[in-house]
This record gives sequence, C-alpha cells and structure tokens, in this order.
Amino acid sequence: MNDIIIGIDLGTTNSEVAIVADGKVTVISEGGKKMLPSFVGLDDAGSIIVGETARNQYIVYPERTIKSIKRLMGEDTQVKLADLSYSPQEISAIILKRLKAIAENYLGQAVSKAVITVPAYFSDAQRQATREAGEIAGLEVVRMINEPTAAALTYDAQATDAKKVLVYDLGGGTFDVSVVNIESGVVEVLSSHGDNHLGGDDFDTQIINYLLEHLQNTYDVDVRNDSKAMARIARAAENAKFTLSEQPYAQIDEEYLLEFEGTPIHLSLELSRMVYEEMIEDYINATLDAVHIALKGAKFTSSDIDEIILVGGSTRTPCIRERLLNEIGLEPHSEVDADLCVAMGAAIQGAMIAGQDVDTVLVDVTPYTYGTSAIGFLDGQEYPFMFVPIIHKNTVLPNRKTEAFATHHDGQEAVEITIYQGEDPDALQNVKIGEFRVEGLRDVEAGNILTLTLGLDLDGILQVSAQEKETGLEKSITIKNALAQFEDSTLDAAKQRINALFGQMDASVIEHEPVAEVTESAPEIKAAQELIAKAEALFDKVSNEDKEDMIDLIETLTSCIEAQDVSGLDAPVAELNDIIYYLES
Ligand code: AMP
Repeated sequence: MNDIIIGIDLGTTNSEVAIVADGKVTVISEGGKKMLPSFVGLDDAGSIIVGETARNQYIVYPERTIKSIKRLMGEDTQVKLADLSYSPQEISAIILKRLKAIAENYLGQAVSKAVITVPAYFSDAQRQATREAGEIAGLEVVRMINEPTAAALTYDAQATDAKKVLVYDLGGGTFDVSVVNIESGVVEVLSSHGDNHLGGDDFDTQIINYLLEHLQNTYDVDVRNDSKAMARIARAAENAKFTLSEQPYAQIDEEYLLEFEGTPIHLSLELSRMVYEEMIEDYINATLDAVHIALKGAKFTSSDIDEIILVGGSTRTPCIRERLLNEIGLEPHSEVDADLCVAMGAAIQGAMIAGQDVDTVLVDVTPYTYGTSAIGFLDGQEYPFMFVPIIHKNTVLPNRKTEAFATHHDGQEAVEITIYQGEDPDALQNVKIGEFRVEGLRDVEAGNILTLTLGLDLDGILQVSAQEKETGLEKSITIKNALAQFEDSTLDAAKQRINALFGQMDASVIEHEPVAEVTESAPEIKAAQELIAKAEALFDKVSNEDKEDMIDLIETLTSCIEAQDVSGLDAPVAELNDIIYYLES
C-alpha cells in the first residue's frame, strides 16, 4: 500500500478525492460528505477554513472567502483573503492539502502521489499552475488527465471494443462536452467544446430572480441589499432546483425572511418544473449547440456515437437527459454518480499507473425505460398514446420519479393510467405492464393536475401511484418483476419447453401471459383508506379535541400509505378504530 496514488477531481464548485483499494474504487467521505466545496476562507479568528464552512460564510463574508479559484488558474494574478494576497496556485494548494489530509485520515498512512484531473480545454499554463498547486500541497502529480478521460475510464476501463463516447459535463459554473475514443483502457479526447461561464449557478440565479420578482410584486420590497435574506433565498432556490430534478413541483417557504416597514415578510410560493424549464431553456440550448460543435470537431455525426456519459451535478436536471436522448438518439448513462465519476476515473488511472487491478465500478441500473402514455404529438400529428418516460433506462436503482399530467376535458371524473416498459415514442409499441383507473376526481375544468410517481427497486418491484394534486386523492398499484422481460427467442424457447412438457397445452395461454404481475394495493392499505373516509365523515359531529386526535392519526396513516408501509398501519388503525367505535356507540 506504500505507493498508493490518490485520484483528485479539483473542481470549480466541488472537489473530491478517491482511491482504489482491493480492486474497489472509493470516493472518500469526511463527515458523511464526499464532496468538498472548493471554497477557501478565513474564519472569525483568522484561521484558514476549507469546504463547507467556507462556503457557508461566503455570502456574509465575501471579503474573506474565495470561490471558483479554478477559473484563475494559469493567470498571473493574486487574490485577496482579508489583508494578504495569494496566487491561484496557493489557494488551490490549500484545497489539495485538505483532500490529501482526508485521504491520509482514511488510509491511516501518508500519501505523496496523485493523479489530478483538469478540463480538456486547459492550456499549458493552466496545467502547469495545477501541477504547481500539487507540489505546494506536498503532492507529486504523477499524471494530469483530462476530466472527460477520467469519466470515460470510470465507465469503460475494462472495455476492449473501441467505443466513441460523448461526455457531457455540466457542473456548477462550467460546461464541457467532449468526444472521446476509448479502446483497451486508453482514452483519447478527439474534440472538446464548452463554456467556462455556464452551469448550475446560472440556473440558481434564474430561480433567485424569479423569487425576487415575486417579493417585489407581492410586498413591493427589494431584498437585494439584505445579505442574510439573500443567503436564505439563494439556499432556497438551489433546494427548489434539487426538488425539481425529482418532482414536478417545488414548494418554497421561507418564513420571516425579513422585516419591511414593521411587517414580517414571508416567502411562500410554488414553482413548477415547467416554469423552471422555461427559465433555463436558453442555457440548455447553448449546451446542445456545443454538443454539435464538438461532434463536428471530431468529424462525427450523432449516429457515430456509441455512448453518452453524464458528468457534473447539474446533469441531474431531467430535461437535459431528455434533450440529449432526442438529439443523439441514445439514453445517456448515469450509473456512476455524476458528481463523483471524474474523481473515480482519476483513482483508476492512478491504480493503473501503480499496477493495481481495478474491478468494474458499475452499479445496478434499470435496463429499460418505464413510463405512461398521454395525448401528445408523434411525427407532428396529435396522437393519444405518446409514450411519456418517467424512469429512464440506464439510471441507478433504486429510483423514484414523479411527473405531472393534466386532465383533458372539463368535468373529467376519472383517468385510465397505463404503465409501459420500453423505448419507443409510441407507447403501443412498448410492453404494457400494468394499468389502473383513478376515479372521483374533482368536477373542474380541463387541466386538473395529477402527479404520477414511479418507484423501482433493485428487486424489480415497481410501485406506481397517481395523486390528484389539489385533494391528495390517490390510487396505487404494485407491479412485481418489472425488470423481467422475455426476449423473443427466450419466449419461444420457453413456449417450446412448456409445450413439450404438457403436450396438450395451448400456446396462446403463454402468449397472453402478462410480462409482469399486477397487484392492487395491499388489503391493509385499502382498509386504512376506508377507515380514513369513515373518520372524515364524522368530523361534523365530533368535538375539536377528538377531531385533532383523528387528524393526527389520519396524517400518520396517510404517510404509511404513501410509503406502502403496511406494518406501520397497525397502531394508528387500532387507535382510530377505537375513537370511531366510541363516537358511534
Ligand atoms: P459539480 O460542479 O459537478 O459538483 O456540480 C455542482 C452543480 O450541480 C451545482 O450547481 C449544483 O446545484 C448542481 N446540482 C447538484 N445536484 C443537483 C440536482 N439533483 N439537480 C440539479 N442540479 C444539481
């Protein structure tokens, strides 16, 4: 273990350190966190702070906090930290020293060698500055590799077939896209393009402006000069962005944000994914233009690409995956955490240099896309069965995603929901694996919102639930063995085997066998739902005290139902039954 070479992703927003031990790649965490924010600062006592604490003080004490130093690497400049000036190399060295210490704490031994990643577009001067930063931190930089090279190595270090891979890397403040060729563990960057000032921070800014505008319109207040309120708005905006990567709506609530002319100002509003996607559309378009420039640079067209790899935290934004799928015709890979795969690739490169073996790092992903159908446009024509993917192929399991849908006509009291597995834009060409009906919707105009949540676990159990957004009315089903899908040949072989066994058996019996077994919600859940309805019907006749108790129990039951936690229902069901019995007797 003496010659261990650590892998470091020295990022603009976050940095990570990884190692290979016993063939396994590990990104080292400290205090439960694998990402170290690339922030350096001085605390109240004048001591150097790095990472989360420095990031937390940035908005309040910008004069003694430095962020995004990577942008200045290679420039002959100095940055100020309180009264002293430092070169970009020195600030980067502070981050590297911290990462080195994290690795040493974990390994229980000194570390002196590292592979550090740099963007493919980095000039010689920028690379040289990075090397110097390593030296100042007490690290021999045994190799510097390009970030897309590291990402490709994480995915394909063992692959022997030549592959052309598009690496789409959208972080907090930078965007890069590279076309790489990988063969027998050797990665070559064929072309690269990007924008050094485009990333998730821009998405945050869009949401922040939206919130500021809302406050201006609602309370006629301008919050920009209140740094504490701005810090809370910035945090709330980023959190809303995270939520919108999973859910179609994000509720933003910041109570007592500030006091204005003696009145407390609360921020409370809902942001929909649709509105958010409009805010960031121009940025996404710019990244796709860059994709085409990179393809052109490598003299390729979309169809030459074998794989797309997503790198950088911002690629969790669902519309990015969708747009790439539409443009290139391939489901992007995200088996490896998009924030961590560059550091992992650096560690893999380090292990290769040190002559260590490396196991494959890939984790379980869904091999199929799951979704539903809706009225939409297919080949320019209105079509009632357009496939709407919800859980995409190649995404890590377990996985849970929610999408919003709207009713089609006024007074629509019910919807039929069909769940499909497959990749065809025409849902009818995919495999139908379940269907159910939600009834009792509000009698309102078309556009009543329903959310549909799909949760797929490692055992292939797909939980599907549809909820009327306004009322919470919910219906759910469980689809077992959703990951199983007979290939045609396997199906034929199975048919023949069964026919041989039973001779007289009608092949059509097997042909019509559903691929997946569909089961309604557990009977306990149905019983609990009925009990809730019964309790609610009694609300008019009970004292406030009883009503409060009942509401508490209903809330507990509803959470258990949502989580499909059947055993958790026992106690609240018994209690609610007791109250109802006492009220009715
Ligand atoms: P990186 O530079 O790769 O660490 O990426 C950091 C950026 O990713 C920041 O702008 C984060 O806000 C953004 N990010 C992280 N997680 C998510 C997520 N779940 N959805 C959208 N953006 C995210």
